[in-house]
Amino acid sequence: MTRVATPGDDVRVAFVGAGPGEADLVTLRGAQRLQHADVVLFDSLADPALRQLAPSARWIDVGKRGFSGVPHAPRGGGSENTGQDTINALLVKHALSGAKVVRLKGGDPSVFGRLEEELEALARAGIECEVVPGVTAALAAAAATQRPLTRRGTGRSVALTTAMTKSGDLVAGRHADTESFYMAGKQLAALSRRLVAAGWPVDTPALVVSRAGWPDQIASEHAVATLGDATVLHSGRPTIVTVGVGAVAVQGERERAAKTATAAMPLAEKATPTP
Ligand code: SAH
Repeated sequence: MTRVATPGDDVRVAFVGAGPGEADLVTLRGAQRLQHADVVLFDSLADPALRQLAPSARWIDVGKRGFSGVPHAPRGGGSENTGQDTINALLVKHALSGAKVVRLKGGDPSVFGRLEEELEALARAGIECEVVPGVTAALAAAAATQRPLTRRGTGRSVALTTAMTKSGDLVAGRHADTESFYMAGKQLAALSRRLVAAGWPVDTPALVVSRAGWPDQIASEHAVATLGDATVLHSGRPTIVTVGVGAVAVQGERERAAKTATAAMPLAEKATPTP
């Protein structure tokens, strides 16, 4: 039977989803956990403005970029393992010192956050913890573009996928009506080829959204076969690729977008090639 910790005095570590972008996307519960924290171990993707919620806590940057330069880099290369091991050790150390610890993770902790490894480290040390969910990037991308991931009648399933394997290879399949790809921003052309090989029709709508949830978010529309065209536009920014039903504009949106002055639109990049 699974035992689920409820927050109480013995819960010394809270994993908190920071949300994908600006600080106000954190949940109220996450904000409350931050307010009570003595130590915050935070990722590079979390908005620095969240510090205002815990100004007297000790904030420790454990962003994976700080350790290896690449978040979620394949394991086995040494430095990434060291990074994760260091984070695990810091979590345990601060929790055992009696501090209330918040482990702040970008988006949602349970989605591509290597949460399992940190949970295991705490369990091995006998430390109680809780997980406070957050808004994951795929949902922020859907919100930013007003393109629901599910559609009544046509979009019955959503897959959250990373195209990157543990060994660093790029793979892609076709798992759902809407598939959201994480961590593929640097390899959009390769992703495009893999998607076509996996059986997605070349003209399947593909939406690329970078920095979703931030004021400078950008979205562009493509087809699976032309995904590579988005490379320069989104270069160097965290990027979600939505493929399939959820990438299609809802009816009327195109007309509305055409009427609104493009300069005033946060998604002005809609002017880029459309499928
Ligand atoms: N736990 C996070 C994902 C961490 S993996 C979550 O739930 O969102 C890091 C990847 O998430 C990035 O490579 C990118 O694909 C995606 N990502 C994170 N923040 C993003 C944002 N604001 N906009 C678009 N993609 C984002």
